[in-house]
Amino acid sequence: MTGHGQQFASDNYAGICPAALDAFLAANTGSTIAYGQDNWTQAASDALRAAFETDAEVFFVFNGTAANSLALAALCRSYQSIIAADLAHIETDECGAPEFFSNGAKLLTVPTNGGKLTPEAIAAVATSRNDIHFPKPAVVTITQPTETGLLYTLDEIRAIAAQCRRLSLKLHMDGARFAQAVASLGCTPADMTWRAGVDVLCCGGTKGGMAIGEAVIFFDRALAEGFDYRCKQAGQLASKMRFLSAPWVGMLTDGRWLDYARHANAAARRLANRVTATDGIALLFPVQANAVFITMPPAVANALRDRGWLFYEFIGGAARFMFAWDADPTRIDQLADDLESCARAFGHNP
Ligand SMILES: *Cc1c(COP(=O)(O)O)cnc(C)c1O
Repeated sequence: MTGHGQQFASDNYAGICPAALDAFLAANTGSTIAYGQDNWTQAASDALRAAFETDAEVFFVFNGTAANSLALAALCRSYQSIIAADLAHIETDECGAPEFFSNGAKLLTVPTNGGKLTPEAIAAVATSRNDIHFPKPAVVTITQPTETGLLYTLDEIRAIAAQCRRLSLKLHMDGARFAQAVASLGCTPADMTWRAGVDVLCCGGTKGGMAIGEAVIFFDRALAEGFDYRCKQAGQLASKMRFLSAPWVGMLTDGRWLDYARHANAAARRLANRVTATDGIALLFPVQANAVFITMPPAVANALRDRGWLFYEFIGGAARFMFAWDADPTRIDQLADDLESCARAFGHNP
């Protein structure tokens, strides 16, 4: 870490947003009941139920890997399988945790353009085999927004959900950046999830501005049976649960989680607008949430690194920039200026 100014290599570089931190500190008065039987945890669960306009079952875990793995494990048996996009975080970045916690359920990945599944691709995998030698498909998982910053429209989610119902598959949504998706589409959380046919949502808190924590939301309460035991067995039951849950109360008050998400999305658009205006560099994916993927000649990427900028190139070789609740417009403009001058100096191969 350079220590010289804000970086945009990950939205996890950001600190804790005021809404989450204030609630965290407010929860630090006196003693209260442990293991989630406290008033803060009740209030956070109620706030999520209100935000989603439904009587869902809610659980709080430490991170997204745990949320996804345990939720998927709850949706399938060990001899079944989970249909996912090739770029899905559960496939590329969870160290086999979904397979581990489901006692061996297999991930069946589908080649995609940018990480979005389609009803056709789901059907092709789900109906490819029906013999006893193949792990029976039980769940489909979609990431909203995708790992590449793309959004499923509500119609696309509904079509996937309809396909899942036809094929008797459950639908899980990895919403590590769920607030950014809601803010970008301008819909309600309910419209993007249970009203569209999503069974379980892993709702991200960390990338939205909290220190730690994700909420696992079961819209079909029957699917949550035993999930409390799963969390405990996996080391995901916080004894001082109020510190995991209270920040949600702060985030959900007056829709502040969406204000932060709007800020992050606007930051991404700010950079994207400059990129499209600069010769020699281009966007790899349309910017629909808080991610910007930029393709540039290796010499430009090196020059940008020499100027102190940090970024990853793990998807399609493009430089990834992610924006959080605290993205500073001045720093974004500095990055855009540096991109422009590096592209001018090194962008045109002889
Ligand atoms: C960050 C992220 C997660 C959660 O990752 P953890 O490091 O386990 O908290 C899950 N899914 C997606 C798409 C992510 O980007």
